[in-house]
Amino acid sequence: MRKLIMIFVVFVVSSIFSTTSGEAAVAPVTQHIAFQDQLLDFSEIKVINEDTKVPLEEIAAHLDIPFEIEKGITYIRKNGIEISYIETSQLTSKNGVALDWTPIVKVNGKIFISVEYIASEIGYKVKSFEKHKTQRIYKEDWTYMSHENFEIYLNIILNKKQPSPAKSKANVYLTFDDGPNKFTAINNSILKKYNAKATFFFLGNHMKKNASIINTVVKDGHYIGTHSMTHDKSKVYLSSESFINEMMEGKKLIKKMTGKDTKLVRTPYGSKPHLTTAMKDELVTNGFKLWDWDVDSNDWKYTEKEVNKIIQNVQVGVEKAYKSGDQDIIILLHDRSQTTKALPQIIEWLQKEGYTLKTYEPDHHIVQNFLRDTTL
Ligand SMILES: [Zn+2]
Repeated sequence: MRKLIMIFVVFVVSSIFSTTSGEAAVAPVTQHIAFQDQLLDFSEIKVINEDTKVPLEEIAAHLDIPFEIEKGITYIRKNGIEISYIETSQLTSKNGVALDWTPIVKVNGKIFISVEYIASEIGYKVKSFEKHKTQRIYKEDWTYMSHENFEIYLNIILNKKQPSPAKSKANVYLTFDDGPNKFTAINNSILKKYNAKATFFFLGNHMKKNASIINTVVKDGHYIGTHSMTHDKSKVYLSSESFINEMMEGKKLIKKMTGKDTKLVRTPYGSKPHLTTAMKDELVTNGFKLWDWDVDSNDWKYTEKEVNKIIQNVQVGVEKAYKSGDQDIIILLHDRSQTTKALPQIIEWLQKEGYTLKTYEPDHHIVQNFLRDTTL
């Protein structure tokens, strides 16, 4: 039986690769091409003689490669090099010297070019992710996600998982810093739409003008912690006295405006390296708990046109934390316009993946601080 199968397999494989008219052998495989941190869209990706090729005009648009076709010859000119392809002879040349292989081919009237070839010729690197059949084009001196994180990202978006696992994978705590402001109201309404709970760390100096937003947040069941009064590094961290005053004032204002006792703080810019031992001791003495975060969305860095980056940071960070065994994952976000744009997709993804979105529960405090201090 095994022999029969083998013969069959050989037959099928050889039919795929057979070349009847001297045309290139085309293997039908689902391939993906990425550029920096994003997957690129191509109408067709072909593996021809074990080399991944894409339509020239499409990759030219993605990578900004000028090309022109004159009398059956395709010219690519960039960075002082000239690559030419002659259709009749199917010959590719670089700076007038013919190559001994075919990085460029014409299939069904369309010109395809080798991804690896064109990327490296114009100064990019290419990393192959075998498991995900992905070639990633990148430039080392541009900022990009590490290959390790990018592989996690590929796993997330290329492995279509079963919808809504019955059992929760882990708890996720969305936390929003720097409000209240008009984006707090938007974030709150998005959370409501998805029946999701979150935690807000408000700035005392922004609270006074935003009473109605604060009331809505409280009414909808989210926890409010303090993020200091001023957020001003030079004031908050000036001394342990100024530090604890900022936190105590924030706490008092929350009590005054919402009637709620809060004990949770997120210190501006995170506890490390700003918090001194004396400041930490003041927090403990005054009954505070402190939350840093497990996953930084880095949302503040991006514009409204880059919301995909925010979503990607959350997805990769959460998957990493979950795989490391974390059952309570805290995500840092801000009340900003770009975050409101990213939030629906973030929540949809978390819920689809089976995470439970929770607000801070003071009776079940979870220790999460960069100081690894269990008294906080
Ligand atoms: Zn902040």
